[in-house]
Amino acid sequence: MKFHSTDNVRLVIPKAALLTVFDECDGFTQDETGGRVIGTYQEHKDKLEIRVTGIIEAGPQARRSAVSFFQDGKYQEQVFRKIEDQHREIEHLGNWHTHHVNGLQHLSGGDIETYHRNVNHRNHNTSFFYAMLVTTKHRSSDPLRRYTVKHYVFRRGDKQIYELHGRQVEIVDAPLVWPQDAALDNKRANSAGRDLGANPDRVYDNEILSEFFRGVRPFSNAKLGMYWRGPLELLDGSKVEVVLLEDSAAARPTYTVTLREPPAVLKNMAEEIATAEFPSARAALITTERRCNRALYMEHGGKHRVDVSA
Ligand SMILES: [Zn+2]
Repeated sequence: MKFHSTDNVRLVIPKAALLTVFDECDGFTQDETGGRVIGTYQEHKDKLEIRVTGIIEAGPQARRSAVSFFQDGKYQEQVFRKIEDQHREIEHLGNWHTHHVNGLQHLSGGDIETYHRNVNHRNHNTSFFYAMLVTTKHRSSDPLRRYTVKHYVFRRGDKQIYELHGRQVEIVDAPLVWPQDAALDNKRANSAGRDLGANPDRVYDNEILSEFFRGVRPFSNAKLGMYWRGPLELLDGSKVEVVLLEDSAAARPTYTVTLREPPAVLKNMAEEIATAEFPSARAALITTERRCNRALYMEHGGKHRVDVSA
């Protein structure tokens, strides 16, 4: 299969997006994995500029093997709709997946066939399909050089496959709209080395809670010490009240979470999470949010069992 060059396409991608992709790859040594790429684009005649602003994870019911990968499209649509509520301009740009587990250095014949079909499908919103492919894992202490990554663009009504080269790919410092914790990691990487005072964890916690968990507010009183309380907004639009308690008796404080009057679907999960200790307030809230969303999703998936293979 021959890949073509083009001067008509430009890609702008945040470091945080690459880090999210590479972190996901680190979790897989046998099977392919991947996810959806979202963002914005501008098109003028043949010129196309693609800006990545988020990566949607494969989802709890994704199916993987060493040579194939099927995403949980239903889960991804739910996430996408949630993002779209806040960011009207966001579109599906394409997919990413990895071949670092099987050594293939390019898109496979099956990948190419699928992407050509996607871009020419009448329900496909844009005139292009972007495919990011991870090919090789490296021993590197630079988190951005852990893997080799290639970028391809398919265009509607065009049989050629365009591979983007270095000069067409701009890697930038910019936050992601999804996943939410990648934005945090990015923030963390950017603040590393800065003097954050005596308790850097508390500074991060306050920044992150005020930005991503706006309803959850800090309180303190003589009996409980430091705690946070407020509604956690979940994937299906519902809310659950959380109380996050800091235990600062030890050398390093730990945190525990209680869900107040959880709905039936979250009861088991609430009991489990109440016994867990977290190293920071943000770790506690992010984990709780994920576990709640997973419980909601599994409940939903169980009622409407549909084979999602796209
Ligand atoms: Zn592939």
